[in-house]
Amino acid sequence: MKIPFNKPFLTGDEINYIKHAVNLGKISGNGNYTKKCQTFFESKYGIKKALLTTSCTDALEMAALLLRIKPGDEVIVPSFTFVSTANAFVLRGAKIVFIDSKSTHPNLDETKLEALINSKTKAIVVVHYAGVACEMDTIMQLSQKYDLFVIEDAAQGIDSFYKGRPLGSIGHLSTFSFHETKNIISGEGGLLGINDERFLHRSEIIWEKGTNRAAFFRGEIDKYGWVDLGSSFLPSEIIAAFLWAQIEHINSIQSRRKQIWNRYFEELNHLEQIHNINLPQLPQNTTNNGHLFYLICETLNQRTQLIEFLKKKNIHAVFHYLSLHDSPFFKEKHDSRSLLNSDKYSNRLLRLPLYYELSEAEQSHIISSVNQFFNV
Ligand SMILES: *Cc1c(COP(=O)(O)O)cnc(C)c1O
Repeated sequence: MKIPFNKPFLTGDEINYIKHAVNLGKISGNGNYTKKCQTFFESKYGIKKALLTTSCTDALEMAALLLRIKPGDEVIVPSFTFVSTANAFVLRGAKIVFIDSKSTHPNLDETKLEALINSKTKAIVVVHYAGVACEMDTIMQLSQKYDLFVIEDAAQGIDSFYKGRPLGSIGHLSTFSFHETKNIISGEGGLLGINDERFLHRSEIIWEKGTNRAAFFRGEIDKYGWVDLGSSFLPSEIIAAFLWAQIEHINSIQSRRKQIWNRYFEELNHLEQIHNINLPQLPQNTTNNGHLFYLICETLNQRTQLIEFLKKKNIHAVFHYLSLHDSPFFKEKHDSRSLLNSDKYSNRLLRLPLYYELSEAEQSHIISSVNQFFNV
């Protein structure tokens, strides 16, 4: 009995809805299930317009197209994030300016933002790490002051809030992921949220390969053609049907994940007394959505030993991002600033198994094994 790091949860309705989608006879994108999923995000999370995509990566690439990012533009991105957060803008020729994390949280340090802004800066991409909100008031105020766009990479941020506002509804644009490692899944999948009205019209065109096909199908125009840049960003109805089965169960999925998270937090809290060991902190005005649970170890070496120790106990624990400013692709392009907090999380953060079907007995085994390692 091995405990994996993640196990995709199936609600049981996925196959029924896929069958239904197939029987409806229209399995390409932008059909019945796509609209159901999009409407859910718009009405539940106050996103002005939601478009399903084949991944969060694709949604980020759509965002870069929508903002007309071009060579010479600068985009500020946290170094401690997934590759796609930066890569989507590099594809359009942008120069990435990496920002460090906070000392107390892997999220970007908003107090370091203003110093990185200059006349070439076009956008700030914020990542709500572990589903915990960045300091959005400060970030949005800076974006107004300097006329910048804010994109929320809310890949991990579904059903989480900042001062009561749903993540993904605050920035000009936002992106979500339904990759099998996230809370709500469709294998691969994502969503672009559009909150700024200026982007409503073009978003649909970029989504539909640069054509005005969506308007055509609504009967607004009598023929459709190539009107802008775009690509094939929309998923088929088969994927949307799968996703709908998950969305229908979002409340039970979220409450089970949060229950597991809370138990880790309560039963491992005493580790904070050990020198340089930290548990996740929830900054003021933010919520936890049970996306992931982590420990900060004292050193890289200690983390490696803990991973090995847990492996012998049949528990698969994993580290997370490696600072992008120091990656093989970017190293040469990075200015010389050191980003020590990002490096700290790269070296010392460890994620414990967290998935819907993790049993109480399995979680007890994980907690007692971690305690055993630390001799407490
Ligand atoms: C998972 C993730 C992505 C990528 O999502 P895909 O749907 O796999 O493209 C991007 N950014 C962050 C912060 C993520 O966690």
